[in-house]
Parts: sequence; C-alpha cells; structure tokens
Amino acid sequence: MSGFPSFNYRNNVLCGESVRLDRIAREFGTPCYVYSRHALVAAYSEFDSAFAGRDHLVCYAVKANSNLAILNLFARLGSGFDIVSGGELRRVLEAGGDPRKIVFSGVGKQPDEMRVALEAGILCFNVESEAELEILDQVARSMNQIAPVSFRVNPDVDARTHPYISTGLKENKFGIPFEEAESLYASAQKLANVRVTGLDCHIGSQLTELDPFVETREKMLGLLDRLEARGLKIHHLDLGGGLGIRYSSEKPPPARAYIAALCGGMVQRKQRILVEPGRVLVGNAGILLTRVEYLKHATHRNFAIVDAAMNDLMRPALYNAYHEILPVAPGTQADVKTYQVVGPVCETGDFLGHDRELALLPGDLLAVMSAGAYGMSMSSNYNSRPRAAEVMVDGDRAHLIRERESMDQLMAGEKILP
Ligand SMILES: *Cc1c(COP(=O)(O)O)cnc(C)c1O
Repeated sequence: MSGFPSFNYRNNVLCGESVRLDRIAREFGTPCYVYSRHALVAAYSEFDSAFAGRDHLVCYAVKANSNLAILNLFARLGSGFDIVSGGELRRVLEAGGDPRKIVFSGVGKQPDEMRVALEAGILCFNVESEAELEILDQVARSMNQIAPVSFRVNPDVDARTHPYISTGLKENKFGIPFEEAESLYASAQKLANVRVTGLDCHIGSQLTELDPFVETREKMLGLLDRLEARGLKIHHLDLGGGLGIRYSSEKPPPARAYIAALCGGMVQRKQRILVEPGRVLVGNAGILLTRVEYLKHATHRNFAIVDAAMNDLMRPALYNAYHEILPVAPGTQADVKTYQVVGPVCETGDFLGHDRELALLPGDLLAVMSAGAYGMSMSSNYNSRPRAAEVMVDGDRAHLIRERESMDQLMAGEKILP
C-alpha cells in the first residue's frame, strides 16, 4: 500500500488505478502529472453527499487545478465553480460548467471580467471592497443588468495554517472587516444595479482542525441574524474552502465531519449553503511523475537530480511544503541513501524533497505524491522549461488531457524588434 488511494503498488510497481506509472512515463514522457478519475469522483461525491438532504452547492475552487478534463468531470457531477479570473470563467464555460453555479471571488476583479461574468449570468459576485462594489454597480448599469452580490467578510479567525495561505485574519488583504459588513450591506441596498443575495467568507487553506471553521460559522451566523434584522434577504451562506489533506502525517477531519460542523446551527435556517473546496477535491487525486537524471554525491550530501523542478511543482519552494516521494519500482540493487531530491532549475530553492531515504539509480522513476492541487495550476516556464504533460487514468486506460508544451508554444507571441 502507498497510503494514497488510487495510487497503489501492484506486482511491486506503483500504479494509477490499474495503469503502471512506468508505462505512462514511456508513453507520455516525464515530467508528467497523473490524475485518477476514480479519486476525483470519489472526493467530490463524498463532499456532495455529506450534505445529505440540505440545500447546498459545492463550488469547486478552479485555481487548485484548472485542467479542462477535470473541470468537465466535476461539471458532469453537477458541481458549481469558484473562479478568480476571466480566464477561469472561460475555462469553466469551455468545460461545460453551468454559469448559474459560478461564484466569482478575488480582490481585484477588472471591469472587463465583470462584464463577461454578467453576460454569462453567474450566480454571484463575492465582492471584497466598497470600491469594487461601486465599479460592479457601474458595469452592471452600463449593461442594463443587476449584479447578484455577496460580501466576502473577514471573520478575523486564526486558521492556524501556513501564513501564506491564511486569509481570515484582520491583517490579510482579503475580505471586508467584520465590523464594516453591516454598513456595507446597507450601502449596497441603495445601489440600483446590484442586488445582495448572499454572505461569504474564506479563512485559509490546508486547515486540519475543525475549530477555526466552527468559530467562523458562529460569527457568520451572528452576522446573518443582524443583516436579516435589518430587512436584508440573504439567500445563501458561502463558507469558502480550506479543508486540508494528508501530505504526510496530518490528520484532517473527513469531509463528513467538516460538513456537519459547517451545517451545525443551520438546521432551522432556510439559507442555501455554498462551499468552495479546492485542494481536498484534487490534491490526493494527482501525482507528479519524474525521472532521476543524475546522482551527485557531494561531501556531506547526496543529490538526486530529477527532471521535474520548481517550475512544475512550486509548493516546496514557495511554502517549504512536504510531498511524499515514492519510487515507482522499488527494490533496485542500489544502496539506500539520504537524498536531496532537486530539479535542474538554477535556484537553491529548487527542491522537491529534502532528506529522503531512497535507493536510486539514474533513470529510475519517482512519484511526487499529493500533487493534484496547486501543482500544474501554479506551474511556470521559468528557465524556459516547457510545461509538463497531464494524463488522467481511468481503470486500465490512460488519457492525455494536456500535451507537453512544445518549444514553439514556449515562444508563441514573442517578437523581436524590426
Ligand atoms: C483558494 C480559495 C479556495 C479554495 O481553497 P482550498 O484550500 O483549496 O480549499 C476557496 N475560496 C477562495 C475564495 C479561495 O481563494
């Protein structure tokens, strides 16, 4: 067992569902992201069914992984989507997502993005400032439309996660200060081309405890009561995303317990509940497959130089994040050594894992686990490295869902001076 559902050893070779990962490397090359259809569907279904009979909408946070095949899979299951840009909107529509199930988050929405979203007829704009509200009202007026609006309020709750992915504290750039929410809702009521429909928050990412969610829910329900007392009709409560996954030894609560915690205190309320899960739906449904290029033995350290790098998977470099690294075909003749698993990029921060006990030979394949979320979607072309291919396994089949970037694509759009 690998400990990661849908990625298990069979006859001593790591497989995605029933497909050997060495076969995928041969067919599609490395570095290559591999996702499991079964794991994606199982994660979504567990989340969705945890609401039991309650009126709800799961809005998958597209930024976690925006591949069209993955969006399409979720759209087929009836998912909604949480987008943060016009590009993500285009992707969701392209993938067959229902615009009436889209919420639009983000602190810096541009008028053009607002226009396209209004044309598409999205469910709601999650507005993050008074200035944004005014622009949205103007854009909607110019189109003779009324924009549905929630305010993203900042409940000032400590998510106790990495500072770069904590968003619910007072000092963060996100959301509207909790104390200002009521007056902002009141001013929104006076604008002709926005209509308040919901209340929204999102406190951070990779949370592994329920307490911050429960604290947030309590604060949000208190605010909801005060808004209703002012005569506002709030149709939905959006509690954001942020549920963590197991990368190594974390023990995040299961989706069922998380949803039960969010829904507590909501029994006698009529509002629809929205959630915006990203990582928890895709994180452990994907891996990054890479090949060992060179082994380098320096005085005090052993380096395994692999063909994937920080431009493919930025999380270790950006957050010092831990990803398990497993051999695809363990049991080589090589000695076990402590390796620094690093990429070819010219940065000391370019590593995928530190101090890993591995028995390696050049040419061996490694699987960087839990790479389905914030992997490919954060990738770049740094060092002019073409972006990796993406493959989805489904039973015993492997489908290419994104071609490896070509050299021509790498330079597309660039021009030299006449
Ligand atoms: C990133 C983000 C999410 C998803 O967060 P996860 O930790 O991946 O679940 C949800 N809502 C908003 C507003 C976000 O910015």
